[in-house]
Amino acid sequence: MSRPDDLAGAVRARLEWLLLLGVDDLPLGPIRVHQSLPAPGPRLEAGLPSVVQAGLFGGDPIVGPAPPRAVPGSGTDGETASPLQGLPAPDGSDPVAALAAIRQEIGDCRRCRLCEGRTQIVFGVGDPRARLMFVGEGPGADEDRQGEPFVGRAGQLLTRIIESMGLRRQEVYIANVVKCRPPENRTPLPDEAGICSPFLLRQIMAIHPRVIVCLGTPAAQTLLGTRATITRLRGVFKEVRGIRIMPTFHPAYLLRNPAAKKEVWEDMKKVIAFLQSAG
Ligand code: URA
Repeated sequence: MSRPDDLAGAVRARLEWLLLLGVDDLPLGPIRVHQSLPAPGPRLEAGLPSVVQAGLFGGDPIVGPAPPRAVPGSGTDGETASPLQGLPAPDGSDPVAALAAIRQEIGDCRRCRLCEGRTQIVFGVGDPRARLMFVGEGPGADEDRQGEPFVGRAGQLLTRIIESMGLRRQEVYIANVVKCRPPENRTPLPDEAGICSPFLLRQIMAIHPRVIVCLGTPAAQTLLGTRATITRLRGVFKEVRGIRIMPTFHPAYLLRNPAAKKEVWEDMKKVIAFLQSAG
Protein backbone atom coordinates (compact mmCIF):
# COMPACT_ATOMS: atom_id res chain seq x y z
CA MET A 1 0.00 0.00 0.00
CA SER A 2 1.51 3.41 -0.92
CA ARG A 3 2.00 5.99 1.79
CA PRO A 4 -0.15 9.13 1.20
CA ASP A 5 2.92 11.27 0.30
CA ASP A 6 4.13 8.60 -2.19
CA LEU A 7 0.66 8.50 -3.64
CA ALA A 8 0.43 12.30 -3.94
CA GLY A 9 3.82 12.34 -5.67
CA ALA A 10 2.76 9.58 -8.05
CA VAL A 11 -0.50 11.36 -8.85
CA ARG A 12 1.35 14.63 -9.43
CA ALA A 13 3.86 12.91 -11.72
CA ARG A 14 1.05 11.28 -13.68
CA LEU A 15 -0.83 14.58 -14.05
CA GLU A 16 2.32 16.41 -15.13
CA TRP A 17 2.93 13.77 -17.76
CA LEU A 18 -0.64 14.00 -18.98
CA LEU A 19 -0.30 17.77 -19.22
CA LEU A 20 2.84 17.23 -21.29
CA LEU A 21 0.84 15.01 -23.56
CA GLY A 22 -1.66 17.81 -24.00
CA VAL A 23 -4.37 15.79 -22.27
CA ASP A 24 -7.45 17.73 -21.33
CA ASP A 25 -9.59 14.89 -20.02
CA LEU A 26 -9.03 11.56 -18.35
CA PRO A 27 -10.37 8.04 -18.76
CA LEU A 28 -12.99 7.30 -16.14
CA GLY A 29 -13.16 3.99 -14.40
CA PRO A 30 -11.00 0.91 -14.52
CA ILE A 31 -10.11 -1.12 -17.60
CA ARG A 32 -10.16 -4.88 -17.34
CA VAL A 33 -6.70 -5.91 -18.47
CA HIS A 34 -6.81 -9.66 -18.45
CA GLN A 35 -8.82 -12.16 -20.43
CA SER A 36 -10.15 -14.95 -18.29
CA LEU A 37 -12.05 -16.87 -20.96
CA PRO A 38 -10.73 -18.54 -24.11
CA ALA A 39 -10.78 -15.98 -26.85
CA PRO A 40 -13.86 -16.10 -29.11
CA GLY A 41 -13.75 -16.37 -32.86
CA PRO A 42 -15.06 -18.43 -35.74
CA ARG A 43 -13.09 -21.54 -36.67
CA LEU A 44 -11.35 -21.34 -39.99
CA GLU A 45 -9.71 -24.13 -41.86
CA ALA A 46 -6.43 -25.03 -40.26
CA GLY A 47 -3.11 -24.17 -41.85
CA LEU A 48 -0.50 -21.49 -41.63
CA PRO A 49 -0.93 -18.28 -43.54
CA SER A 50 0.60 -18.04 -46.94
CA VAL A 51 0.02 -14.32 -46.84
CA VAL A 52 2.86 -11.92 -46.21
CA GLN A 53 3.64 -8.31 -46.71
CA ALA A 54 4.50 -8.05 -50.37
CA GLY A 55 6.13 -4.79 -51.24
CA LEU A 56 4.94 -3.04 -48.10
CA PHE A 57 6.80 -0.13 -46.49
CA GLY A 58 7.09 1.23 -50.03
CA GLY A 59 9.87 -1.25 -50.68
CA ASP A 60 10.90 -3.72 -53.32
CA PRO A 61 8.88 -6.74 -54.26
CA ILE A 62 9.13 -9.44 -51.67
CA VAL A 63 11.36 -12.45 -52.05
CA GLY A 64 9.64 -15.38 -50.43
CA PRO A 65 6.08 -16.54 -49.87
CA ALA A 66 3.15 -15.46 -52.02
CA PRO A 67 1.79 -11.91 -51.70
CA PRO A 68 -1.55 -11.24 -50.04
CA ARG A 69 -4.80 -11.37 -51.98
CA ALA A 70 -5.89 -8.00 -53.36
CA VAL A 71 -9.27 -6.77 -52.22
CA PRO A 72 -11.31 -5.87 -55.30
CA GLY A 73 -11.89 -2.16 -55.60
CA SER A 74 -9.45 -1.44 -52.86
CA GLY A 75 -8.40 1.95 -54.20
CA THR A 76 -4.98 3.47 -54.25
CA ASP A 77 -3.54 2.34 -50.95
CA GLY A 78 -2.47 -1.05 -52.25
CA GLU A 79 -4.86 -2.70 -49.81
CA THR A 80 -4.94 -6.42 -49.37
CA ALA A 81 -6.69 -8.58 -46.83
CA SER A 82 -5.09 -8.45 -43.40
CA PRO A 83 -2.80 -11.47 -43.08
CA LEU A 84 -4.63 -12.24 -39.84
CA GLN A 85 -7.56 -13.32 -42.02
CA GLY A 86 -5.68 -16.38 -43.16
CA LEU A 87 -4.83 -17.73 -39.73
CA PRO A 88 -6.57 -20.51 -37.85
CA ALA A 89 -8.85 -19.25 -35.10
CA PRO A 90 -7.71 -19.54 -31.52
CA ASP A 91 -8.68 -22.97 -30.26
CA GLY A 92 -8.92 -21.95 -26.61
CA SER A 93 -5.58 -23.55 -25.80
CA ASP A 94 -3.35 -22.06 -23.14
CA PRO A 95 -1.74 -18.89 -24.56
CA VAL A 96 1.33 -19.42 -22.36
CA ALA A 97 1.94 -22.82 -23.95
CA ALA A 98 1.09 -21.49 -27.42
CA LEU A 99 3.62 -18.66 -27.08
CA ALA A 100 6.26 -21.06 -25.77
CA ALA A 101 5.69 -23.30 -28.80
CA ILE A 102 6.08 -20.35 -31.18
CA ARG A 103 9.28 -19.30 -29.44
CA GLN A 104 10.61 -22.82 -29.70
CA GLU A 105 9.81 -22.95 -33.40
CA ILE A 106 11.71 -19.71 -33.99
CA GLY A 107 14.73 -21.33 -32.39
CA ASP A 108 18.08 -19.78 -33.20
CA CYS A 109 16.53 -18.27 -36.31
CA ARG A 110 18.64 -17.93 -39.49
CA ARG A 111 15.70 -17.41 -41.85
CA CYS A 112 16.79 -13.91 -42.96
CA ARG A 113 19.85 -11.68 -43.02
CA LEU A 114 18.87 -9.87 -39.80
CA CYS A 115 20.31 -12.79 -37.81
CA GLU A 116 23.79 -11.67 -38.84
CA GLY A 117 23.77 -8.48 -36.79
CA ARG A 118 21.65 -9.41 -33.84
CA THR A 119 22.77 -10.16 -30.30
CA GLN A 120 19.57 -12.01 -29.51
CA ILE A 121 16.03 -12.58 -30.71
CA VAL A 122 13.49 -10.21 -29.15
CA PHE A 123 10.36 -12.31 -28.97
CA GLY A 124 7.84 -10.18 -27.04
CA VAL A 125 6.95 -9.42 -23.48
CA GLY A 126 3.92 -9.06 -21.27
CA ASP A 127 0.75 -10.81 -20.24
CA PRO A 128 -0.08 -13.75 -22.54
CA ARG A 129 -3.75 -13.10 -21.74
CA ALA A 130 -3.58 -9.34 -22.28
CA ARG A 131 -6.59 -7.57 -23.73
CA LEU A 132 -4.32 -4.89 -25.19
CA MET A 133 -1.28 -5.46 -27.36
CA PHE A 134 1.24 -3.02 -28.87
CA VAL A 135 3.18 -3.83 -32.03
CA GLY A 136 6.27 -1.90 -33.10
CA GLU A 137 8.71 -2.21 -35.94
CA GLY A 138 11.79 -4.02 -34.73
CA PRO A 139 14.28 -4.04 -31.89
CA GLY A 140 16.78 -1.21 -31.56
CA ALA A 141 20.18 -1.32 -29.87
CA ASP A 142 18.81 -1.38 -26.30
CA GLU A 143 16.26 -4.04 -27.11
CA ASP A 144 18.89 -6.14 -28.90
CA ARG A 145 21.08 -5.95 -25.79
CA GLN A 146 18.33 -6.64 -23.25
CA GLY A 147 16.18 -9.07 -25.23
CA GLU A 148 13.00 -7.11 -24.52
CA PRO A 149 11.00 -4.85 -26.87
CA PHE A 150 10.67 -1.13 -26.23
CA VAL A 151 13.17 -0.61 -23.43
CA GLY A 152 15.15 2.30 -24.95
CA ARG A 153 14.06 5.94 -25.10
CA ALA A 154 11.09 5.24 -27.34
CA GLY A 155 10.20 2.34 -25.06
CA GLN A 156 10.25 4.52 -21.99
CA LEU A 157 7.85 6.86 -23.74
CA LEU A 158 5.64 3.90 -24.64
CA THR A 159 5.65 2.80 -20.99
CA ARG A 160 4.52 6.28 -19.97
CA ILE A 161 1.75 6.20 -22.55
CA ILE A 162 0.59 2.82 -21.22
CA GLU A 163 0.64 4.15 -17.66
CA SER A 164 -1.28 7.23 -18.74
CA MET A 165 -3.96 4.86 -19.98
CA GLY A 166 -4.30 3.58 -16.42
CA LEU A 167 -2.44 0.34 -17.14
CA ARG A 168 0.89 -1.16 -16.17
CA ARG A 169 3.38 -2.32 -18.79
CA GLN A 170 3.22 -5.91 -17.55
CA GLU A 171 -0.56 -5.95 -18.11
CA VAL A 172 -0.25 -5.53 -21.89
CA TYR A 173 1.71 -7.52 -24.46
CA ILE A 174 4.41 -5.85 -26.58
CA ALA A 175 6.01 -7.27 -29.73
CA ASN A 176 7.49 -6.19 -33.05
CA VAL A 177 7.09 -6.97 -36.75
CA VAL A 178 10.65 -8.36 -36.83
CA LYS A 179 12.41 -10.03 -33.94
CA CYS A 180 16.00 -9.15 -34.78
CA ARG A 181 17.54 -5.70 -34.84
CA PRO A 182 17.86 -4.25 -38.35
CA PRO A 183 21.30 -2.71 -39.00
CA GLU A 184 21.50 0.99 -38.06
CA ASN A 185 17.90 0.68 -36.85
CA ARG A 186 16.64 0.90 -40.40
CA THR A 187 13.08 -0.06 -41.29
CA PRO A 188 12.77 -3.82 -41.89
CA LEU A 189 12.85 -4.68 -45.59
CA PRO A 190 9.75 -6.29 -47.05
CA ASP A 191 11.33 -9.73 -47.30
CA GLU A 192 12.51 -9.56 -43.67
CA ALA A 193 9.03 -8.57 -42.52
CA GLY A 194 7.50 -11.22 -44.74
CA ILE A 195 9.67 -13.94 -43.26
CA CYS A 196 9.34 -12.87 -39.62
CA SER A 197 5.81 -11.51 -39.31
CA PRO A 198 4.04 -14.90 -39.50
CA PHE A 199 5.45 -15.50 -36.02
CA LEU A 200 3.96 -12.20 -34.86
CA LEU A 201 0.63 -13.15 -36.42
CA ARG A 202 0.66 -16.43 -34.53
CA GLN A 203 1.54 -14.63 -31.29
CA ILE A 204 -1.47 -12.40 -31.92
CA MET A 205 -3.81 -15.34 -32.47
CA ALA A 206 -2.42 -17.09 -29.36
CA ILE A 207 -3.05 -14.02 -27.20
CA HIS A 208 -6.13 -12.87 -29.13
CA PRO A 209 -6.25 -9.42 -27.53
CA ARG A 210 -9.32 -7.24 -27.88
CA VAL A 211 -7.21 -4.36 -29.23
CA ILE A 212 -3.86 -4.06 -30.99
CA VAL A 213 -2.18 -0.67 -31.20
CA CYS A 214 0.09 -0.53 -34.23
CA LEU A 215 2.99 1.80 -33.56
CA GLY A 216 4.05 3.34 -36.84
CA THR A 217 3.75 2.55 -40.52
CA PRO A 218 5.44 -0.89 -40.71
CA ALA A 219 3.27 -2.36 -37.95
CA ALA A 220 0.08 -0.91 -39.40
CA GLN A 221 0.92 -1.98 -42.94
CA THR A 222 1.85 -5.46 -41.78
CA LEU A 223 -1.30 -6.11 -39.77
CA LEU A 224 -3.74 -4.33 -42.06
CA GLY A 225 -2.34 -5.44 -45.42
CA THR A 226 -2.11 -1.93 -46.82
CA ARG A 227 0.52 0.39 -48.22
CA ALA A 228 -1.08 3.45 -46.70
CA THR A 229 1.12 5.34 -44.26
CA ILE A 230 0.45 5.97 -40.60
CA THR A 231 -0.61 9.57 -41.18
CA ARG A 232 -3.42 8.25 -43.33
CA LEU A 233 -4.34 5.30 -41.10
CA ARG A 234 -4.04 6.60 -37.56
CA GLY A 235 -6.95 7.23 -35.29
CA VAL A 236 -9.41 4.87 -36.93
CA PHE A 237 -10.15 1.36 -35.72
CA LYS A 238 -10.20 -1.52 -38.20
CA GLU A 239 -11.59 -4.83 -37.04
CA VAL A 240 -9.95 -8.11 -38.08
CA ARG A 241 -10.80 -11.53 -36.65
CA GLY A 242 -12.65 -9.96 -33.72
CA ILE A 243 -9.63 -7.79 -32.87
CA ARG A 244 -9.78 -4.00 -33.06
CA ILE A 245 -6.64 -2.54 -34.62
CA MET A 246 -5.71 1.06 -33.88
CA PRO A 247 -2.80 2.53 -35.85
CA THR A 248 -0.99 5.44 -34.24
CA PHE A 249 2.36 7.21 -34.40
CA HIS A 250 5.48 5.38 -33.23
CA PRO A 251 6.95 6.69 -29.93
CA ALA A 252 10.28 7.34 -31.71
CA TYR A 253 8.38 9.74 -33.98
CA LEU A 254 6.95 11.42 -30.88
CA LEU A 255 10.46 11.94 -29.54
CA ARG A 256 11.24 13.87 -32.71
CA ASN A 257 7.82 15.53 -32.99
CA PRO A 258 6.43 16.06 -29.48
CA ALA A 259 3.45 17.98 -30.86
CA ALA A 260 2.09 14.69 -32.24
CA LYS A 261 1.64 13.35 -28.70
CA LYS A 262 -1.76 14.97 -28.64
CA GLU A 263 -2.92 12.89 -31.60
CA VAL A 264 -1.58 9.72 -30.01
CA TRP A 265 -3.45 10.53 -26.85
CA GLU A 266 -6.64 11.03 -28.87
CA ASP A 267 -6.08 7.56 -30.36
CA MET A 268 -5.38 6.03 -26.95
CA LYS A 269 -8.59 7.53 -25.56
CA LYS A 270 -10.49 5.61 -28.23
CA VAL A 271 -8.69 2.44 -27.16
CA ILE A 272 -9.51 3.05 -23.50
CA ALA A 273 -13.16 3.78 -24.31
CA PHE A 274 -13.45 0.60 -26.36
CA LEU A 275 -11.82 -1.58 -23.69
CA GLN A 276 -14.13 -0.11 -21.08
CA SER A 277 -17.23 -0.61 -23.21
CA ALA A 278 -16.17 -4.17 -24.09
CA GLY A 279 -16.24 -5.02 -20.38
N1 URA B 1 11.19 0.52 -31.75
C1 URA B 1 10.42 -0.52 -32.10
O1 URA B 1 9.70 -0.45 -33.07
N2 URA B 1 10.48 -1.60 -31.36
C2 URA B 1 11.23 -1.71 -30.28
O2 URA B 1 11.21 -2.76 -29.65
C3 URA B 1 12.02 -0.60 -29.94
C4 URA B 1 11.99 0.50 -30.68
